[in-house]
Amino acid sequence: MPLVRVGTSPIDRQGLFAATDIPRGTRIVEYHGEKISKDESARRLAQYNVYIVYFNEQYDLDGETLANTARYINHSCDPNCTVEHTAETIWIVALKHIQAGEELSCNYGFDARDYEKFPCRCGAPICCGYILGREYWGFLPAPSPSAPLSAEEAGASPDT
Ligand SMILES: [Zn+2]
Repeated sequence: MPLVRVGTSPIDRQGLFAATDIPRGTRIVEYHGEKISKDESARRLAQYNVYIVYFNEQYDLDGETLANTARYINHSCDPNCTVEHTAETIWIVALKHIQAGEELSCNYGFDARDYEKFPCRCGAPICCGYILGREYWGFLPAPSPSAPLSAEEAGASPDT
């Protein structure tokens, strides 16, 4: 029985869902793709290919092929999966116990280049607003002081 199924996602058009309960630490699905040089990778990244992942110092993996089920995993700022590298393979691994029906997610680990082009809709309370590796969140510009207060902030009365 496969551990995952592809389904309609609230984050993006499609997503990857747990077909059964998945214990923490499980290698859920392998990330398949075309092994490409760093030069070719840079060329494809410039065209906003979002399926390229780091493979090793020499190569990246382009998982855009539809045969790569793992390509359907959506980004989340508070993910339940991570990406694990072995010498020859890349796996999506459960960071926590995942219940049947839950959507799987991982942090795509994008760098800060052109981050505005990749807004995030993961819905996590800690969402930083963009598809961005956690290590870059500190570089995001602070919200503009002239920005209107959120309903929550506006409703907070200082003299209660
Ligand atoms: Zn997010």
